[in-house]
Amino acid sequence: MALILVAAPLSLFAQNTYKAQVVAHRGYWNTEGSFQNTITALKKSAEINAYGCELDVNMTTDGVLVVCHGPKVGDVADVQDTTFARMQQVRFKNGDGVPTLDEFVKCAKELGHRLILEVKTHPAEKRVEVVTKVVELIKRYEMENLTEFIAFNYEICKELHKQMPGSMVQYLLGDKTPAEIYADGIMGIDYEYSTLSSHINWIQEAHDLGMVVNVWTVDPADRIEIMVKNGVDFITTNQPVLAQQIIGALNSKK
Ligand code: MG
Repeated sequence: MALILVAAPLSLFAQNTYKAQVVAHRGYWNTEGSFQNTITALKKSAEINAYGCELDVNMTTDGVLVVCHGPKVGDVADVQDTTFARMQQVRFKNGDGVPTLDEFVKCAKELGHRLILEVKTHPAEKRVEVVTKVVELIKRYEMENLTEFIAFNYEICKELHKQMPGSMVQYLLGDKTPAEIYADGIMGIDYEYSTLSSHINWIQEAHDLGMVVNVWTVDPADRIEIMVKNGVDFITTNQPVLAQQIIGALNSKK
């Protein structure tokens, strides 16, 4: 066995020290001609070969899932208090409109690009409806293996896990330990930079449980480097190209 290992090409053992991958927050929008949470931002995220494109999902009053952060979108005060027809009137400065989740997932499927899909917090009575519609759409496009879910609302995380067992769900709020989340079958934390910085041991705790660690929204170079060196799996950032360069440089330095 030892002889086989010695004879194997060195390249087989050339692994990156830092495994962090880059998630383009709201797509790659921080660049010419793009705008956050648009089809253009999705396409640009795929073009730079990000690990995945983060997106925000809201439901209109007439039950249509749309991709936008909200509550305010363009000249609409609250997307969740507005009809789909009204949302269709919104135009961003790059010429894009608000995509439906259907359009967004269809495009991601064509690109073969991964989605980090945030289900925004909705009133309790709408939670199951929103999650059911999201899950139905992901299954219809057979995007189960290219979709990961994130949510601030813990009940939404649990509902996603219930409706799509085995899918990657990451909790965003930062008020629970990895062990507490693991106990509910949720396999990832995606915490804000300052939260994770003040509980840096949660990275190892999560990894020991077989969970993944994502961190948002890390834009300054020094913070990206700190999180990469601390071994997070994913950096969610508005500076995805910079983050890729930093990770690449750290891995070539060793
Ligand atoms: Mg988001």
